[in-house]
Amino acid sequence: MSLIGTKCVQGGYTPKNGEPRQIPIIQSTTFKYDTSEDMGKLFDLEADGYFYTRLANPTSDYVAKKICEMEGGSAAMLTSSGMSANFLAVFNICSCGDHFISSSAIYGGTYNLFAVTLKRMGIDVTFISPDASEEEINNAFRPNTKLLFGETIANPALDVLDIEKFAKIAHNNGVPLIIDNTFPTPVNCRPFEFGADIVVHATTKYMDGHGSAVGGAIVDSGKFDWTKYADKYPGLCTPDESYHGITYTERFGIEGAYITKAVAQLMRDLGVTPAPMNSFLLNLGLESLHVRIKKHCENGLAVAKFLKDNENVTWVKYPGLEDSKDSELVKKYLPNGTCGVVSFGIKGGRETALKFMKALKLIAIETHVADARSCCLHPATATHRQLSDDELIACGVSPDLIRMSMGLEDSEDLINDIKQAFESI
Ligand SMILES: *Cc1c(COP(=O)(O)O)cnc(C)c1O
Repeated sequence: MSLIGTKCVQGGYTPKNGEPRQIPIIQSTTFKYDTSEDMGKLFDLEADGYFYTRLANPTSDYVAKKICEMEGGSAAMLTSSGMSANFLAVFNICSCGDHFISSSAIYGGTYNLFAVTLKRMGIDVTFISPDASEEEINNAFRPNTKLLFGETIANPALDVLDIEKFAKIAHNNGVPLIIDNTFPTPVNCRPFEFGADIVVHATTKYMDGHGSAVGGAIVDSGKFDWTKYADKYPGLCTPDESYHGITYTERFGIEGAYITKAVAQLMRDLGVTPAPMNSFLLNLGLESLHVRIKKHCENGLAVAKFLKDNENVTWVKYPGLEDSKDSELVKKYLPNGTCGVVSFGIKGGRETALKFMKALKLIAIETHVADARSCCLHPATATHRQLSDDELIACGVSPDLIRMSMGLEDSEDLINDIKQAFESI
């Protein structure tokens, strides 16, 4: 089996004699068949093939297969955004009346999905600190708890999750661990190697890497044995009357049941499908991911080190710094690099933060991270602007916090940009 860089370039698609070298863009909503019997077999999931792009499309499937190989999974699918990947991943095994547990250090949009929107659907969540003890996490479990959720490197808190510990706790309680692996990407960390069961991605970030296409992915390790807990996961282990009475675990095994159900049932009904063109763009990003991610990490570390010694800065958070609070976890889970995102506190707080950011020339103000161009954000006046200073501190976003995503420019230029902005305030 090839190494990760080769999978980035060549995974998922192997053209036969005379076929296109690059993944073809199948820009077609529908597919033609000679007989109704042929099509019937597709609807019954008895034959492989495509009939309608809302459910599945060959371009997207080639790219899903590449991401599946990169993570070392058994099956995968693409979605129209990272948010829809997170939603489908949870909703595929949680229904009204169910409960799940999530690390509190997660992306703000995901936090809101869990705390507000899923709650409106009757699905209850308990948030726990990523640093919670085994006992504290065990105590959060209930008879109707269906999964445990966390982020490898949390956006924007930048905490690193102890995946192995979380996986062990999940499995002792008979549920899968779902990991959002957006920030490290499978180049820097493959959560399945540490016991995670399902991985989700906002491909919008480093995987696309050029700020060109919003997208998401879900990958199944194929290792979690749903049939051992058949009462807990009836959607996977009993006949789906909305899909011709298929029992997903019987027909597709524990390797294929989870993703097949998510496609056949949730994509059918919710239609959060990526456009084939966007899947093609995502693949262009993936082809250079292993080369780009190294540079993002180099720039992140260089800027973090520069900020650490700067008199205008009160604190710096970057998991890759030697004295970061998570340095032991970084050694274990992220030995080749973490990510390109750095956060820091600026002396003078809110007012100075705004002046500093206005003075930056290369590093642009954006609500985004993880693409080729460096950018920055002041959460207290942007994404979190409705909160008071006390509320900001309570959710780990102090008024002096600036988040910077280091792109692929030369680090000397980025540091000079930061220097001149400090000098101007
Ligand atoms: C951006 C992000 C998401 C949401 O992805 P979208 O593509 O914006 O919907 C989810 N999780 C993490 C960690 C992210 O950074």
